[in-house]
Amino acid sequence: MLGLMQDWPLLMHRIIDHAATFHGARKVITRSVEGPFHTTDYAQLRGRSLKVAQRLTKDGIKLGDRVATLAWNTWRHMEAWYGITGIGAIYHTVNPRLFPEQIVWIVNHAEDRVLIADLTFVPLLEKIADKLPSIERYIILTDAAHMPKTALKNAVAYEQWIGAVDGDFGWAAFDENTAAGMCYTSGTTGHPKGVLYSHRSNVLHSMMAMAPDAMAASSRDTILPVVPMFHANCWGLALTAPMVGATLVMPGGKMDGASIYELLDTFKVTFTAAVPTIWLMLLQDLEKTGGKLPHLKRVVIGGSACPRAMTKTFQEIYGVEVIHAWGMTEMSPLGSLCTMKPEHATLEGDAKLDIQMKQGHPPFGVEMNITDDEGHDLPWDGKKFGRLKVRGPAVARSYYKVDNDPVFEVSGWFDTGDVATMDPHGYMQITDRAKDVIKSCGEWISTIDLENLAVGHPKVAEAAAIGVKHPKWDERPLLVIVLKKGEVASKEDILAFMQDKVAKWWMPDDVVFVDEIPHTATGKIQKITLRQQFKDYRLPGAQAAE
Ligand code: ADP
Repeated sequence: MLGLMQDWPLLMHRIIDHAATFHGARKVITRSVEGPFHTTDYAQLRGRSLKVAQRLTKDGIKLGDRVATLAWNTWRHMEAWYGITGIGAIYHTVNPRLFPEQIVWIVNHAEDRVLIADLTFVPLLEKIADKLPSIERYIILTDAAHMPKTALKNAVAYEQWIGAVDGDFGWAAFDENTAAGMCYTSGTTGHPKGVLYSHRSNVLHSMMAMAPDAMAASSRDTILPVVPMFHANCWGLALTAPMVGATLVMPGGKMDGASIYELLDTFKVTFTAAVPTIWLMLLQDLEKTGGKLPHLKRVVIGGSACPRAMTKTFQEIYGVEVIHAWGMTEMSPLGSLCTMKPEHATLEGDAKLDIQMKQGHPPFGVEMNITDDEGHDLPWDGKKFGRLKVRGPAVARSYYKVDNDPVFEVSGWFDTGDVATMDPHGYMQITDRAKDVIKSCGEWISTIDLENLAVGHPKVAEAAAIGVKHPKWDERPLLVIVLKKGEVASKEDILAFMQDKVAKWWMPDDVVFVDEIPHTATGKIQKITLRQQFKDYRLPGAQAAE
Protein backbone atom coordinates (compact mmCIF):
# COMPACT_ATOMS: atom_id res chain seq x y z
CA MET A 1 0.00 0.00 0.00
CA LEU A 2 1.34 3.43 -0.90
CA GLY A 3 1.11 6.39 1.44
CA LEU A 4 -1.45 9.03 0.70
CA MET A 5 0.88 11.98 0.65
CA GLN A 6 1.49 14.49 -2.14
CA ASP A 7 4.04 13.91 -4.84
CA TRP A 8 6.35 16.92 -4.53
CA PRO A 9 9.53 16.24 -6.51
CA LEU A 10 12.68 17.57 -4.87
CA LEU A 11 13.65 20.08 -7.57
CA MET A 12 16.26 22.79 -7.12
CA HIS A 13 14.05 25.68 -8.25
CA ARG A 14 11.75 24.98 -5.29
CA ILE A 15 14.58 26.30 -3.12
CA ILE A 16 14.74 29.69 -4.81
CA ASP A 17 10.92 29.83 -4.97
CA HIS A 18 10.81 29.26 -1.21
CA ALA A 19 13.48 31.90 -0.58
CA ALA A 20 11.70 34.45 -2.80
CA THR A 21 8.30 33.78 -1.18
CA PHE A 22 9.24 33.62 2.48
CA HIS A 23 12.55 35.50 2.63
CA GLY A 24 12.15 37.67 -0.47
CA ALA A 25 13.78 40.81 0.91
CA ARG A 26 16.79 38.98 2.41
CA LYS A 27 19.94 40.41 0.91
CA VAL A 28 22.51 38.81 -1.35
CA ILE A 29 25.60 41.01 -1.32
CA THR A 30 28.53 40.45 -3.69
CA ARG A 31 31.98 41.94 -4.15
CA SER A 32 31.48 42.22 -7.88
CA VAL A 33 34.17 41.24 -10.32
CA GLU A 34 33.93 44.78 -11.73
CA GLY A 35 34.85 46.14 -8.25
CA PRO A 36 32.00 47.71 -6.25
CA PHE A 37 29.70 45.86 -3.85
CA HIS A 38 26.41 44.81 -5.40
CA THR A 39 23.22 44.13 -3.44
CA THR A 40 20.17 42.20 -4.50
CA ASP A 41 17.63 39.98 -2.70
CA TYR A 42 16.14 36.52 -3.13
CA ALA A 43 12.97 37.82 -4.85
CA GLN A 44 15.00 39.65 -7.48
CA LEU A 45 17.46 36.80 -7.82
CA ARG A 46 14.60 34.40 -8.55
CA GLY A 47 13.13 36.78 -11.12
CA ARG A 48 16.43 37.01 -12.96
CA SER A 49 16.97 33.23 -12.74
CA LEU A 50 13.69 32.85 -14.58
CA LYS A 51 15.06 35.16 -17.25
CA VAL A 52 18.14 32.93 -17.56
CA ALA A 53 15.85 29.92 -17.97
CA GLN A 54 13.72 31.74 -20.54
CA ARG A 55 16.73 32.96 -22.50
CA LEU A 56 18.42 29.55 -22.51
CA THR A 57 15.19 28.04 -23.84
CA LYS A 58 15.05 30.73 -26.55
CA ASP A 59 18.64 29.79 -27.48
CA GLY A 60 17.60 26.15 -27.91
CA ILE A 61 19.09 24.73 -24.69
CA LYS A 62 17.08 21.74 -23.55
CA LEU A 63 16.69 19.21 -20.77
CA GLY A 64 19.98 17.39 -20.23
CA ASP A 65 22.20 19.94 -22.01
CA ARG A 66 25.34 20.99 -20.19
CA VAL A 67 26.08 24.66 -19.54
CA ALA A 68 29.57 25.35 -18.22
CA THR A 69 30.30 28.08 -15.69
CA LEU A 70 33.81 29.41 -15.17
CA ALA A 71 33.01 31.89 -12.46
CA TRP A 72 33.54 33.21 -8.94
CA ASN A 73 30.88 33.26 -6.23
CA THR A 74 28.54 36.08 -7.28
CA TRP A 75 24.80 36.71 -7.46
CA ARG A 76 24.97 36.26 -11.24
CA HIS A 77 26.60 32.85 -10.91
CA MET A 78 23.77 31.83 -8.57
CA GLU A 79 21.13 33.12 -10.97
CA ALA A 80 22.78 31.05 -13.68
CA TRP A 81 22.65 27.88 -11.50
CA TYR A 82 18.94 28.26 -10.79
CA GLY A 83 18.13 29.33 -14.36
CA ILE A 84 20.01 26.43 -15.93
CA THR A 85 18.54 23.80 -13.60
CA GLY A 86 15.07 25.33 -13.84
CA ILE A 87 14.73 24.01 -17.40
CA GLY A 88 16.36 20.66 -16.61
CA ALA A 89 19.73 21.64 -18.11
CA ILE A 90 22.91 20.97 -16.10
CA TYR A 91 25.28 23.54 -14.59
CA HIS A 92 28.84 22.33 -15.02
CA THR A 93 31.19 24.23 -12.71
CA VAL A 94 34.71 24.41 -14.12
CA ASN A 95 37.57 25.18 -11.76
CA PRO A 96 39.56 28.07 -13.29
CA ARG A 97 42.61 27.10 -11.24
CA LEU A 98 43.10 23.96 -13.30
CA PHE A 99 45.69 23.94 -16.06
CA PRO A 100 44.22 25.20 -19.38
CA GLU A 101 44.70 21.70 -20.91
CA GLN A 102 42.61 20.20 -18.09
CA ILE A 103 39.85 22.78 -18.66
CA VAL A 104 39.85 21.89 -22.36
CA TRP A 105 39.65 18.18 -21.53
CA ILE A 106 36.79 18.65 -19.04
CA VAL A 107 34.65 20.91 -21.27
CA ASN A 108 35.07 18.51 -24.18
CA HIS A 109 34.31 15.49 -22.04
CA ALA A 110 31.14 17.13 -20.70
CA GLU A 111 30.27 18.40 -24.22
CA ASP A 112 29.12 21.71 -22.81
CA ARG A 113 27.01 23.78 -25.25
CA VAL A 114 27.28 27.18 -23.60
CA LEU A 115 30.03 28.64 -21.44
CA ILE A 116 29.19 31.32 -18.89
CA ALA A 117 32.32 33.06 -17.62
CA ASP A 118 33.48 35.93 -15.47
CA LEU A 119 35.40 38.83 -17.01
CA THR A 120 38.52 37.52 -15.28
CA PHE A 121 38.62 34.47 -17.53
CA VAL A 122 38.09 36.05 -20.96
CA PRO A 123 41.86 36.08 -21.75
CA LEU A 124 42.15 32.41 -20.73
CA LEU A 125 39.15 31.45 -22.88
CA GLU A 126 40.52 33.35 -25.87
CA LYS A 127 43.62 31.14 -25.69
CA ILE A 128 41.73 27.84 -25.59
CA ALA A 129 38.46 28.57 -27.46
CA ASP A 130 39.64 26.96 -30.70
CA LYS A 131 39.94 23.67 -28.80
CA LEU A 132 36.35 23.85 -27.48
CA PRO A 133 34.23 22.86 -30.51
CA SER A 134 31.07 22.04 -28.53
CA ILE A 135 30.68 25.59 -27.18
CA GLU A 136 28.14 27.51 -29.25
CA ARG A 137 28.15 30.71 -27.26
CA TYR A 138 30.12 32.52 -24.56
CA ILE A 139 28.17 34.58 -22.05
CA ILE A 140 30.28 37.01 -20.04
CA LEU A 141 28.94 37.77 -16.55
CA THR A 142 28.91 41.55 -16.84
CA ASP A 143 26.97 44.43 -18.38
CA ALA A 144 27.39 46.11 -21.78
CA ALA A 145 29.49 48.91 -20.29
CA HIS A 146 32.14 46.47 -19.00
CA MET A 147 32.01 44.04 -21.91
CA PRO A 148 35.47 43.68 -23.46
CA LYS A 149 36.05 43.43 -27.18
CA THR A 150 36.47 39.75 -27.84
CA ALA A 151 36.43 37.33 -30.73
CA LEU A 152 34.88 34.54 -28.58
CA LYS A 153 32.07 32.83 -30.52
CA ASN A 154 28.71 34.69 -30.18
CA ALA A 155 30.06 36.43 -27.09
CA VAL A 156 27.48 38.53 -25.27
CA ALA A 157 27.30 40.41 -21.99
CA TYR A 158 25.07 38.52 -19.52
CA GLU A 159 22.95 41.60 -18.71
CA GLN A 160 22.22 42.17 -22.41
CA TRP A 161 21.56 38.49 -22.92
CA ILE A 162 18.91 38.23 -20.18
CA GLY A 163 17.73 41.78 -20.97
CA ALA A 164 16.32 40.46 -24.24
CA VAL A 165 13.56 38.44 -22.47
CA ASP A 166 10.75 39.59 -20.18
CA GLY A 167 10.90 36.94 -17.42
CA ASP A 168 7.31 35.86 -18.02
CA PHE A 169 8.22 32.21 -17.77
CA GLY A 170 7.66 29.14 -15.62
CA TRP A 171 10.01 26.42 -14.41
CA ALA A 172 9.92 23.17 -16.31
CA ALA A 173 8.52 20.01 -14.71
CA PHE A 174 10.60 16.83 -14.64
CA ASP A 175 11.62 13.92 -12.46
CA GLU A 176 13.59 14.70 -9.29
CA ASN A 177 16.29 12.24 -10.37
CA THR A 178 17.09 14.45 -13.39
CA ALA A 179 20.71 15.59 -13.48
CA ALA A 180 21.20 19.13 -12.13
CA GLY A 181 24.91 19.80 -11.71
CA MET A 182 28.26 18.48 -12.71
CA CYS A 183 31.68 18.87 -11.13
CA TYR A 184 34.96 17.14 -12.03
CA THR A 185 37.32 16.07 -9.26
CA SER A 186 40.83 17.34 -9.80
CA GLY A 187 41.99 13.85 -10.74
CA THR A 188 45.38 13.71 -9.10
CA THR A 189 46.01 10.55 -11.11
CA GLY A 190 44.70 10.13 -14.63
CA HIS A 191 41.96 12.27 -16.11
CA PRO A 192 39.53 14.25 -13.99
CA LYS A 193 36.31 12.40 -13.22
CA GLY A 194 32.85 13.91 -13.61
CA VAL A 195 30.38 13.72 -10.73
CA LEU A 196 26.78 14.27 -11.81
CA TYR A 197 24.45 15.57 -9.11
CA SER A 198 20.68 15.20 -9.41
CA HIS A 199 17.98 17.60 -8.26
CA ARG A 200 17.05 15.13 -5.58
CA SER A 201 20.61 14.70 -4.30
CA ASN A 202 21.21 18.47 -4.27
CA VAL A 203 17.99 19.20 -2.35
CA LEU A 204 18.52 16.36 0.14
CA HIS A 205 22.14 17.39 0.64
CA SER A 206 21.12 20.98 1.44
CA MET A 207 18.61 19.74 3.99
CA MET A 208 21.32 17.60 5.57
CA ALA A 209 23.73 20.55 5.59
CA MET A 210 21.44 22.99 7.37
CA ALA A 211 20.67 20.71 10.34
CA PRO A 212 21.79 21.88 13.81
CA ASP A 213 24.43 19.15 14.13
CA ALA A 214 25.79 20.02 10.70
CA MET A 215 26.09 23.70 9.70
CA ALA A 216 23.17 24.89 11.82
CA ALA A 217 22.21 27.50 9.22
CA SER A 218 19.17 29.70 9.82
CA SER A 219 17.47 32.85 8.57
CA ARG A 220 19.27 34.72 11.36
CA ASP A 221 22.64 33.94 9.81
CA THR A 222 24.71 36.00 7.43
CA ILE A 223 26.63 33.40 5.46
CA LEU A 224 29.88 33.98 3.58
CA PRO A 225 30.75 30.99 1.38
CA VAL A 226 34.42 31.58 0.64
CA VAL A 227 34.59 28.06 -0.75
CA PRO A 228 33.99 28.60 -4.46
CA MET A 229 30.92 27.39 -6.31
CA PHE A 230 33.36 25.53 -8.57
CA HIS A 231 34.80 23.58 -5.64
CA ALA A 232 32.56 20.63 -4.80
CA ASN A 233 29.22 22.38 -5.19
CA CYS A 234 30.25 25.22 -2.84
CA TRP A 235 29.73 22.71 -0.01
CA GLY A 236 26.02 23.13 -0.72
CA LEU A 237 25.90 26.73 0.52
CA ALA A 238 24.45 28.30 -2.65
CA LEU A 239 21.43 26.09 -1.96
CA THR A 240 21.44 25.90 1.83
CA ALA A 241 21.50 29.69 2.33
CA PRO A 242 18.34 30.38 0.25
CA MET A 243 16.70 27.25 1.68
CA VAL A 244 16.86 28.75 5.17
CA GLY A 245 16.57 32.37 4.02
CA ALA A 246 19.98 33.48 5.33
CA THR A 247 21.62 36.70 4.20
CA LEU A 248 24.34 35.79 1.74
CA VAL A 249 27.68 37.52 1.18
CA MET A 250 29.58 36.46 -1.93
CA PRO A 251 33.32 37.15 -2.16
CA GLY A 252 33.68 37.42 -5.96
CA GLY A 253 37.28 36.83 -7.01
CA LYS A 254 39.08 38.30 -3.98
CA MET A 255 39.96 35.77 -1.31
CA ASP A 256 43.09 37.20 0.32
CA GLY A 257 43.07 37.75 4.09
CA ALA A 258 42.39 41.51 3.99
CA SER A 259 39.53 41.17 1.49
CA ILE A 260 37.84 38.39 3.46
CA TYR A 261 38.24 40.36 6.67
CA GLU A 262 36.59 43.37 5.04
CA LEU A 263 33.55 41.22 4.17
CA LEU A 264 33.35 39.60 7.63
CA ASP A 265 33.52 42.96 9.34
CA THR A 266 31.45 45.17 7.02
CA PHE A 267 28.55 42.77 6.61
CA LYS A 268 28.66 41.27 10.13
CA VAL A 269 29.01 37.73 8.81
CA THR A 270 27.98 35.10 11.39
CA PHE A 271 28.97 31.95 9.53
CA THR A 272 31.58 31.17 6.91
CA ALA A 273 33.28 28.19 5.27
CA ALA A 274 36.52 27.49 3.40
CA VAL A 275 39.67 25.36 3.19
CA PRO A 276 42.52 25.86 5.72
CA THR A 277 44.74 27.83 3.29
CA ILE A 278 42.14 30.62 3.20
CA TRP A 279 42.01 30.79 7.00
CA LEU A 280 45.79 30.76 7.17
CA MET A 281 45.77 33.97 5.12
CA LEU A 282 43.02 35.53 7.26
CA LEU A 283 44.70 34.66 10.57
CA GLN A 284 48.03 36.04 9.35
CA ASP A 285 46.29 39.25 8.32
CA LEU A 286 44.57 39.54 11.72
CA GLU A 287 47.86 38.96 13.52
CA LYS A 288 49.35 41.84 11.55
CA THR A 289 46.47 44.30 11.81
CA GLY A 290 45.08 43.40 15.23
CA GLY A 291 41.62 42.93 13.67
CA LYS A 292 38.87 41.20 15.70
CA LEU A 293 35.93 39.00 14.70
CA PRO A 294 33.10 40.10 16.99
CA HIS A 295 30.23 39.02 14.71
CA LEU A 296 31.51 35.67 13.43
CA LYS A 297 30.11 32.72 15.37
CA ARG A 298 31.02 29.62 13.36
CA VAL A 299 33.56 28.69 10.73
CA VAL A 300 33.41 25.43 8.80
CA ILE A 301 36.90 24.24 7.87
CA GLY A 302 37.41 21.30 5.55
CA GLY A 303 38.87 20.16 2.25
CA SER A 304 42.11 19.30 4.10
CA ALA A 305 42.72 18.53 7.75
CA CYS A 306 42.28 21.59 9.93
CA PRO A 307 45.43 22.02 12.03
CA ARG A 308 44.95 22.07 15.80
CA ALA A 309 46.68 25.44 16.05
CA MET A 310 44.13 26.95 13.66
CA THR A 311 41.16 25.67 15.67
CA LYS A 312 42.77 26.89 18.89
CA THR A 313 43.45 30.36 17.49
CA PHE A 314 39.93 30.80 16.12
CA GLN A 315 38.32 29.65 19.34
CA GLU A 316 40.61 30.95 22.05
CA ILE A 317 41.77 34.24 20.52
CA TYR A 318 38.81 35.24 18.36
CA GLY A 319 35.91 33.46 20.07
CA VAL A 320 34.81 31.72 16.87
CA GLU A 321 33.63 28.09 17.07
CA VAL A 322 35.34 25.83 14.52
CA ILE A 323 33.40 23.04 12.81
CA HIS A 324 35.87 20.66 11.26
CA ALA A 325 34.27 18.99 8.24
CA TRP A 326 35.17 16.28 5.79
CA GLY A 327 33.71 15.56 2.39
CA MET A 328 34.35 14.89 -1.24
CA THR A 329 33.08 16.11 -4.60
CA GLU A 330 31.56 12.62 -4.93
CA MET A 331 29.49 13.24 -1.78
CA SER A 332 27.91 16.57 -2.82
CA PRO A 333 30.24 17.07 -0.77
CA LEU A 334 29.48 16.83 2.98
CA GLY A 335 30.40 13.56 4.69
CA SER A 336 30.89 14.47 8.34
CA LEU A 337 31.04 17.50 10.61
CA CYS A 338 32.63 17.73 14.01
CA THR A 339 29.91 19.15 16.21
CA MET A 340 29.83 18.20 19.87
CA LYS A 341 27.58 15.39 21.04
CA PRO A 342 26.22 15.69 24.62
CA GLU A 343 29.00 13.46 25.93
CA HIS A 344 31.52 16.07 24.73
CA ALA A 345 29.54 19.24 25.25
CA THR A 346 31.21 20.22 28.51
CA LEU A 347 34.77 19.61 27.33
CA GLU A 348 37.12 22.58 27.27
CA GLY A 349 40.66 23.45 26.22
CA ASP A 350 42.85 20.58 25.04
CA ALA A 351 40.24 17.89 25.69
CA LYS A 352 37.83 19.69 23.37
CA LEU A 353 40.56 20.26 20.77
CA ASP A 354 41.33 16.52 20.84
CA ILE A 355 37.79 15.84 19.65
CA GLN A 356 37.89 18.69 17.13
CA MET A 357 40.92 17.18 15.43
CA LYS A 358 38.50 14.51 14.25
CA GLN A 359 36.50 15.10 11.08
CA GLY A 360 33.31 14.39 12.99
CA HIS A 361 30.16 12.35 12.62
CA PRO A 362 27.93 12.02 9.56
CA PRO A 363 24.55 13.71 9.27
CA PHE A 364 21.49 11.59 8.51
CA GLY A 365 21.85 10.55 4.89
CA VAL A 366 25.49 9.45 5.07
CA GLU A 367 26.38 5.90 6.08
CA MET A 368 30.01 5.30 6.95
CA ASN A 369 32.29 2.36 7.69
CA ILE A 370 35.96 1.37 7.80
CA THR A 371 37.32 -1.89 6.42
CA ASP A 372 40.64 -3.59 5.82
CA ASP A 373 41.93 -4.13 2.28
CA GLU A 374 39.90 -7.35 1.99
CA GLY A 375 36.68 -5.53 2.86
CA HIS A 376 36.29 -6.85 6.42
CA ASP A 377 34.79 -4.45 8.95
CA LEU A 378 37.26 -2.94 11.40
CA PRO A 379 36.46 -2.11 15.04
CA TRP A 380 35.30 1.40 15.94
CA ASP A 381 37.85 1.88 18.71
CA GLY A 382 39.33 5.20 17.54
CA LYS A 383 42.68 3.44 16.93
CA LYS A 384 42.43 0.90 14.16
CA PHE A 385 42.50 2.61 10.80
CA GLY A 386 41.34 1.37 7.44
CA ARG A 387 39.65 2.26 4.18
CA LEU A 388 36.81 4.71 4.66
CA LYS A 389 33.62 3.81 2.79
CA VAL A 390 30.34 5.69 2.48
CA ARG A 391 26.92 5.49 0.94
CA GLY A 392 23.80 7.63 0.81
CA PRO A 393 21.35 9.50 -1.42
CA ALA A 394 23.83 12.32 -2.12
CA VAL A 395 26.81 10.02 -2.80
CA ALA A 396 27.82 9.29 -6.43
CA ARG A 397 27.12 5.83 -7.81
CA SER A 398 29.22 6.26 -10.95
CA TYR A 399 31.41 8.81 -12.72
CA TYR A 400 30.12 10.45 -15.89
CA LYS A 401 30.85 8.30 -18.94
CA VAL A 402 33.05 5.88 -16.95
CA ASP A 403 31.81 2.31 -16.56
CA ASN A 404 32.59 0.08 -13.60
CA ASP A 405 35.10 2.21 -11.74
CA PRO A 406 36.16 -0.08 -8.86
CA VAL A 407 35.75 2.68 -6.27
CA PHE A 408 32.00 2.12 -6.62
CA GLU A 409 31.79 -1.30 -5.03
CA VAL A 410 29.20 -3.84 -6.06
CA SER A 411 28.01 -3.85 -2.45
CA GLY A 412 26.87 -0.24 -2.92
CA TRP A 413 29.67 1.33 -0.86
CA PHE A 414 31.89 4.05 -2.33
CA ASP A 415 35.56 3.63 -1.40
CA THR A 416 36.70 7.18 -0.61
CA GLY A 417 40.42 6.54 -0.96
CA ASP A 418 40.85 7.99 2.52
CA VAL A 419 42.21 6.11 5.50
CA ALA A 420 40.41 6.74 8.78
CA THR A 421 39.54 5.61 12.30
CA MET A 422 36.03 5.51 13.79
CA ASP A 423 35.56 5.88 17.54
CA PRO A 424 32.87 4.36 19.76
CA HIS A 425 30.86 7.61 19.61
CA GLY A 426 30.77 7.45 15.79
CA TYR A 427 33.37 10.18 15.21
CA MET A 428 35.57 9.62 12.19
CA GLN A 429 39.18 10.79 11.92
CA ILE A 430 41.12 10.86 8.67
CA THR A 431 44.68 9.67 9.09
CA ASP A 432 45.62 10.12 5.45
CA ARG A 433 44.84 9.78 1.78
CA ALA A 434 45.63 6.12 1.03
CA LYS A 435 48.24 7.23 -1.49
CA ASP A 436 49.91 9.78 0.81
CA VAL A 437 50.40 7.67 3.91
CA ILE A 438 54.08 7.01 4.76
CA LYS A 439 54.90 3.33 4.88
CA SER A 440 57.79 2.69 7.19
CA CYS A 441 58.86 -0.87 7.90
CA GLY A 442 55.40 -2.20 7.13
CA GLU A 443 53.71 0.28 9.49
CA TRP A 444 51.83 3.44 8.52
CA ILE A 445 52.71 6.95 9.58
CA SER A 446 49.99 9.60 9.30
CA THR A 447 51.21 12.66 7.39
CA ILE A 448 48.25 14.64 8.71
CA ASP A 449 49.33 14.09 12.32
CA LEU A 450 52.88 15.21 11.59
CA GLU A 451 51.70 18.31 9.71
CA ASN A 452 49.25 19.24 12.45
CA LEU A 453 51.94 19.01 15.03
CA ALA A 454 54.49 21.01 13.04
CA VAL A 455 52.13 23.92 12.36
CA GLY A 456 51.60 24.18 16.11
CA HIS A 457 55.14 25.63 16.27
CA PRO A 458 54.70 29.41 16.59
CA LYS A 459 57.12 30.17 13.73
CA VAL A 460 55.67 27.70 11.22
CA ALA A 461 53.14 28.90 8.64
CA GLU A 462 52.60 25.65 6.73
CA ALA A 463 53.97 22.10 6.82
CA ALA A 464 53.84 19.07 4.57
CA ALA A 465 55.06 15.57 5.43
CA ILE A 466 55.98 13.17 2.67
CA GLY A 467 57.53 9.73 2.52
CA VAL A 468 61.04 9.59 1.07
CA LYS A 469 62.71 6.35 0.00
CA HIS A 470 64.92 4.78 2.65
CA PRO A 471 67.17 1.76 2.00
CA LYS A 472 66.34 0.11 5.32
CA TRP A 473 62.85 1.32 6.33
CA ASP A 474 61.27 1.54 2.87
CA GLU A 475 60.07 5.11 3.48
CA ARG A 476 60.77 7.70 6.15
CA PRO A 477 59.09 11.05 6.80
CA LEU A 478 60.56 14.26 5.45
CA LEU A 479 59.01 17.43 6.80
CA VAL A 480 58.77 20.39 4.41
CA ILE A 481 58.23 23.71 6.18
CA VAL A 482 57.27 27.24 5.22
CA LEU A 483 58.10 29.66 8.02
CA LYS A 484 55.96 32.68 8.85
CA LYS A 485 57.18 35.91 7.20
CA GLY A 486 60.37 37.20 8.81
CA GLU A 487 60.80 34.22 11.15
CA VAL A 488 63.92 32.09 11.50
CA ALA A 489 64.02 28.52 12.85
CA SER A 490 66.34 25.53 12.55
CA LYS A 491 65.66 21.87 11.95
CA GLU A 492 66.60 21.25 15.59
CA ASP A 493 64.01 23.82 16.82
CA ILE A 494 61.26 22.10 14.90
CA LEU A 495 62.22 18.58 15.94
CA ALA A 496 62.64 19.59 19.59
CA PHE A 497 59.12 21.04 19.48
CA MET A 498 57.71 17.80 18.09
CA GLN A 499 59.67 15.53 20.43
CA ASP A 500 57.52 13.52 22.85
CA LYS A 501 54.32 14.66 21.17
CA VAL A 502 54.44 11.81 18.67
CA ALA A 503 55.70 8.19 18.67
CA LYS A 504 59.52 8.15 18.34
CA TRP A 505 59.47 6.17 15.11
CA TRP A 506 57.06 8.71 13.56
CA MET A 507 59.56 11.58 14.05
CA PRO A 508 60.68 13.08 10.70
CA ASP A 509 64.17 12.04 9.62
CA ASP A 510 64.80 15.50 8.26
CA VAL A 511 63.31 18.98 7.92
CA VAL A 512 63.69 21.24 4.89
CA PHE A 513 62.64 24.86 4.64
CA VAL A 514 61.06 26.18 1.45
CA ASP A 515 59.47 29.49 0.38
CA GLU A 516 56.30 27.90 -0.83
CA ILE A 517 54.45 24.58 -0.76
CA PRO A 518 52.58 23.74 -3.99
CA HIS A 519 48.76 23.53 -3.79
CA THR A 520 46.16 21.85 -5.98
CA ALA A 521 43.34 23.72 -7.71
CA THR A 522 41.18 23.09 -4.64
CA GLY A 523 43.74 24.35 -2.13
CA LYS A 524 45.17 21.04 -0.95
CA ILE A 525 48.88 20.44 -0.53
CA GLN A 526 50.07 18.92 -3.78
CA LYS A 527 51.80 15.86 -2.39
CA ILE A 528 52.50 14.38 -5.83
CA THR A 529 54.54 17.42 -6.88
CA LEU A 530 56.34 17.52 -3.55
CA ARG A 531 57.22 13.82 -3.73
CA GLN A 532 58.49 14.39 -7.27
CA GLN A 533 60.55 17.38 -6.08
CA PHE A 534 62.17 15.37 -3.29
CA LYS A 535 62.34 11.99 -4.99
CA ASP A 536 66.15 11.91 -4.95
CA TYR A 537 66.43 13.46 -1.50
CA ARG A 538 69.01 11.73 0.67
CA LEU A 539 67.86 11.49 4.24
CA PRO A 540 70.56 11.75 6.90
CA GLY A 541 71.54 8.23 7.91
CA ALA A 542 70.26 6.73 4.66
CA GLN A 543 73.77 6.22 3.34
CA ALA A 544 74.89 4.39 6.46
CA ALA A 545 71.97 2.00 6.07
CA GLU A 546 72.91 1.10 2.50
P1 ADP B 1 39.56 17.32 -5.16
O1 ADP B 1 39.87 15.84 -5.00
O2 ADP B 1 39.00 17.68 -6.48
O3 ADP B 1 40.62 18.21 -4.65
P2 ADP B 1 37.60 17.06 -3.07
O4 ADP B 1 37.14 18.20 -2.26
O5 ADP B 1 36.59 16.16 -3.63
O6 ADP B 1 38.38 17.70 -4.19
O7 ADP B 1 38.64 16.23 -2.22
C1 ADP B 1 38.20 15.28 -1.30
C2 ADP B 1 39.33 14.82 -0.43
O8 ADP B 1 39.83 15.88 0.36
C3 ADP B 1 38.93 13.79 0.58
O9 ADP B 1 38.87 12.50 0.02
C4 ADP B 1 40.04 13.92 1.62
O10 ADP B 1 41.21 13.22 1.24
C5 ADP B 1 40.34 15.39 1.59
N1 ADP B 1 39.66 16.06 2.70
C6 ADP B 1 38.52 16.76 2.68
N2 ADP B 1 38.23 17.24 3.90
C7 ADP B 1 39.22 16.84 4.73
C8 ADP B 1 39.49 17.01 6.13
N3 ADP B 1 38.71 17.73 6.93
N4 ADP B 1 40.60 16.42 6.61
C9 ADP B 1 41.41 15.69 5.84
N5 ADP B 1 41.21 15.51 4.53
C10 ADP B 1 40.13 16.07 3.97
